[in-house]
Amino acid sequence: MDLGADFRAELVKAVAATIEGHAEELTTLDQAIGDGDHGLNMKRGFEAVLADIGSLSRKSLPDAIKAIGTHLVMKVGGASGPLYGTLFMGLGKDLPAEPNRADLVRAFRGAVTAVQARGKSERGQKTMLDVLIPVAETLESGVVEAGAITRAAHAAADATIPVKAVRGRASFLGDRSIGHMDPGARSSALMIEAVASVLEKA
Ligand code: ADP
Ligand code: MG
Repeated sequence: MDLGADFRAELVKAVAATIEGHAEELTTLDQAIGDGDHGLNMKRGFEAVLADIGSLSRKSLPDAIKAIGTHLVMKVGGASGPLYGTLFMGLGKDLPAEPNRADLVRAFRGAVTAVQARGKSERGQKTMLDVLIPVAETLESGVVEAGAITRAAHAAADATIPVKAVRGRASFLGDRSIGHMDPGARSSALMIEAVASVLEKA
């Protein structure tokens, strides 16, 4: 895998573009079971990341990913900012400068475990973890094809629809959270789709 500076810039742009392109949809999802800020929160975070793309591409891969995590913590806010910040910082912390596929899979699992600890949450509670945990499992089972990883991520986000929220703001709604996709699960699936499709070309 060649994860050099150009590649990193492409990765950042792909993730930022999908968040920007789906910001309204994420907001609509969050209006249904939260406070309607998830799209704007994520868009603000990735605008900050994009604005820093020059300095990010001069950093080593692990340092660049950690720096993205810091931007997200500072700019996204809400519940999802610290959680996505933890995800990216955890990834950066565990990755060697030139990772192979096994390194990426292991680091992703470590970062997801860090999000679970930070959010005091588990799978099945209608959060981003309902996508992140199954994707970690998909990767660990040896799936490499971007299309298959993407399908697994979106199927996992869809599967949050009938679930009752027990974490985050949506949990205040109790049974009324049933019937809506979790916004954080949707943003996770979108980011995974973007990363998988760029990584496939590395
Ligand atoms: P807020 O809920 O503070 O307005 P956002 O709207 O940006 O923050 O993010 C909401 C998303 O954050 C939810 O859809 C859910 O996926 C995720 N989330 C909230 N609390 C937790 C938690 N404890 N663990 C994991 N994810 C969480
Ligand atoms: Mg919100």
